[in-house]
Amino acid sequence: MTMTSSAVAFRLPGMINLHSHAFQRGMAGLTERAGMGEDSFWTWREVMYRFIDRLTPDDVEAIAAMAYVEMLEAGYTRVCEFHYLHHDLDGRPYANLAEMAERIAAAAATTGIGLTLLPVLYSHSGFGGQPPVAGQRRFLNDTDRYLRLREATLAAVKALPGANVGIAPHSLRAVTLDQLHAVSNAVPAGPVHIHIAEQEKEVADCRAWSGRTPVEWLLGTGLVDARWCLIHATHVTPDEVAGMAAAGAVVGLCPITEANLGDGIFPAVPFIGASGRLGVGTDSNVLISLAEELRTLEYGQRLSSRQRTKLAPRGQSVGRTLFDLALAGGRQAAGTAVDADTGTVHLDGAAIELAGRSGDARLDAWVFASARPLVCEVRVGDRRVVDGGRHIGRAAVEARFAAVMTKLCG
Ligand SMILES: [Zn+2]
Repeated sequence: MTMTSSAVAFRLPGMINLHSHAFQRGMAGLTERAGMGEDSFWTWREVMYRFIDRLTPDDVEAIAAMAYVEMLEAGYTRVCEFHYLHHDLDGRPYANLAEMAERIAAAAATTGIGLTLLPVLYSHSGFGGQPPVAGQRRFLNDTDRYLRLREATLAAVKALPGANVGIAPHSLRAVTLDQLHAVSNAVPAGPVHIHIAEQEKEVADCRAWSGRTPVEWLLGTGLVDARWCLIHATHVTPDEVAGMAAAGAVVGLCPITEANLGDGIFPAVPFIGASGRLGVGTDSNVLISLAEELRTLEYGQRLSSRQRTKLAPRGQSVGRTLFDLALAGGRQAAGTAVDADTGTVHLDGAAIELAGRSGDARLDAWVFASARPLVCEVRVGDRRVVDGGRHIGRAAVEARFAAVMTKLCG
């Protein structure tokens, strides 16, 4: 699969992965053993907290590099890294506050993926400023230290071509209203990402605390605009769907992870009908596949409605519609220009899965009818990072990742 001739290759703009926790690639597949009780997002989160109990900066850099290699091979050329693992094993900051951010930047430099780094503000364990729990100790900052971390993160990405830094209040569970205002005022431009309404328990807890649902509460602050990317927004009312669309925010959907965690299904049909903007992310990185992310997004809508071709306008290609929506939403969420050069992805136009297909039918075949990624070449800026379907630095990244996995799982 070394197809690089433009006459045969099928060229696409590089896609933006608008939501990733790179380190979680290291625990992919380790949470698929049934628990003794009911398994949910919350029991998965306990496993995740135990996994990070041992992760060093070297481990995080190795795992992130592996995840980024896989993203590039899947057709993602930029990642919005929602980065909350900040501190040392005992919860104390590293001597360099941005140690972990520098490791994420190093993984991006090694692999060549574009980076929007989103340092996360995490201060509390529940609505109304509840004290954090032990498993969260490596995430925690107050507002002042967070703003210092953000400054240090800007320095950490300075040498990376095209990189930028946004802000990410983790969720309404983890920050207070005062903190939301403080960080939005302190950082008046650039992307703002937040997890919201992923789980029904989260919605119920927010209601019990405030009398409102999370999205209703957040929209009521008046803060949300086109800078914002609302990650998941799974459990929303028709009014909230209309409100998010009207605010111009991007909804960040991660259909593979949302299926894996049993989150639920976002009402994408009415949201798109209201001209809502959306993009896709790989979130837990349990499986990194752009085609499957788009396919799962459409299939969720089909399964819940028992109908077909849900996300394209009448007579239009679903594959093309999903790709274009995700690219536009991803660019907005990453804070890049509407027409920004996000790099180039070549699919193997000679692949048997695309035989006889032309135009948008090739995108439909890629998204719905191929078990292979079909990506043969990827360029980011002037750097060719994938050739013949394989990242040019894969061997070294794999060796380092394998050593870390052997250590962590031993
Ligand atoms: Zn997430």
